[in-house]
Amino acid sequence: MIDFTLTEDQELIRRTARDFAENEIRPVAERVDAMAEGGDTWAIVRPVFEQAAELGFTTFYIPEPFGGSGRSPMDGAIFIEEIAAVDIGIAMTLGATMGYPMFILAAGTDEQKQQFLPALCDGELHILAGAQSEPDVAGSELFCTDADPALGMRTRARRDGDEYVLNGSKSAFITNAGIADHYFIVARTDLARPQADTLSLFYVPAGTPGLHVGRRTHMLGMKTGHHAELRLEDVRVPALNLIGGEGAALGILSTVLGQGLGAPFVGLARAAYRYALDYARQRRSWGKPLIEHQAIALMLADMEMHVRAARLLTWDSVHAAERFDPSMTLKAMAAKAYAVDVAIRTTQNAVKVLGAYGVSREYKAAKYLCDAMMGYALDFTGDLLRIRMAAQLP
Ligand SMILES: Cc1cc2nc3c(=O)[nH]c(=O)nc-3n(C[C@H](O)[C@H](O)[C@H](O)COP(=O)(O)OP(=O)(O)OC[C@H]3O[C@@H](n4cnc5c(N)ncnc54)[C@H](O)[C@@H]3O)c2cc1C
Repeated sequence: MIDFTLTEDQELIRRTARDFAENEIRPVAERVDAMAEGGDTWAIVRPVFEQAAELGFTTFYIPEPFGGSGRSPMDGAIFIEEIAAVDIGIAMTLGATMGYPMFILAAGTDEQKQQFLPALCDGELHILAGAQSEPDVAGSELFCTDADPALGMRTRARRDGDEYVLNGSKSAFITNAGIADHYFIVARTDLARPQADTLSLFYVPAGTPGLHVGRRTHMLGMKTGHHAELRLEDVRVPALNLIGGEGAALGILSTVLGQGLGAPFVGLARAAYRYALDYARQRRSWGKPLIEHQAIALMLADMEMHVRAARLLTWDSVHAAERFDPSMTLKAMAAKAYAVDVAIRTTQNAVKVLGAYGVSREYKAAKYLCDAMMGYALDFTGDLLRIRMAAQLP
């Protein structure tokens, strides 16, 4: 029997995250939203992350013996929902930074754990990024299990003595590219064999010669986030920086799916729902509050229902991942796809509840909708997740 009653400690995590989000993140997010496109948003956002690092949020999952906060994936889902309910762009940057050390924990050797993890826990800010996707050849193709070696990723990692040499390019959408201190980069160790057997994961410090960050990509939503492309020209890393061995990347990436990728979208949907609810209670039409018109009331009841369902699916998937239950991958894909669907539907309905104000920049409903639409393709599209699920249905 699953019991999702939060422990006292988890209630504390929730309150701490909520206070941090309200007091520190909200003012910064509002400043960024008011900025013209092209401004240096990271200069405004970075101090929040410096505070987050001091408070141990950026090293959330790294076990205490390495200097981290030693929190569980369920703690993380609770934490990130609260951050995303105030600003999902910051939640995604923070979530990536919190989550990527899981790669080293899941697949790293003792030597790699000792070398890389304590260095991330020195109290300084270390932003992390993960780069798999590539323009035209490696978006949804990352899930392609076709044996044709010509299909899929083209970035190549060639062994040269005690080093690997990486060449290729990554898509314009890499979260945290340009602000990251360390990158987890997926490259193929053999282009003559099928992609699925040759994808390999490398830990690459920013500033490594040959690792170039392209122009920042300006997105419709998650304005506090930072996305850009990467180019790799003879990027040399020690062989020690290969995590999990050659060909291990797909298995390692799937561990990330267990971390509650639905949680930020539950937070976003909840925020849009509360925003629409407040508006519907205060705006009067035909002599009574909007919420007393049944068409509006039904939308709001649906929002409440779907947000709760998305949270339960997310928590259930995290619960399965914490126990390495065989259902964990299926549940994780379902939770991510469903939470994004709920965020999109809820934010669309919030726009409707606000009428013309819903599409005005003065109000937040349209911003929430743009943020939600970003979720569809991020970490694999909703359709691709369904296709993968269909292949594993019990
Ligand atoms: C906000 C955001 C953040 C991101 N952050 C990162 C990051 O940090 N690191 C990273 O590596 N990447 C990142 N990405 C890239 C993301 O992983 C890819 O965009 C995603 O995998 C989809 O690839 P694509 O954009 O090439 O779309 P495509 O693969 O071209 O898909 C386009 C459409 O076709 C459909 N489609 C494609 N192939 C099939 C098929 N075989 N069957 C049925 N339908 C199909 C898709 O569902 C979609 O609707 C990010 C993307 C976004 C939007």
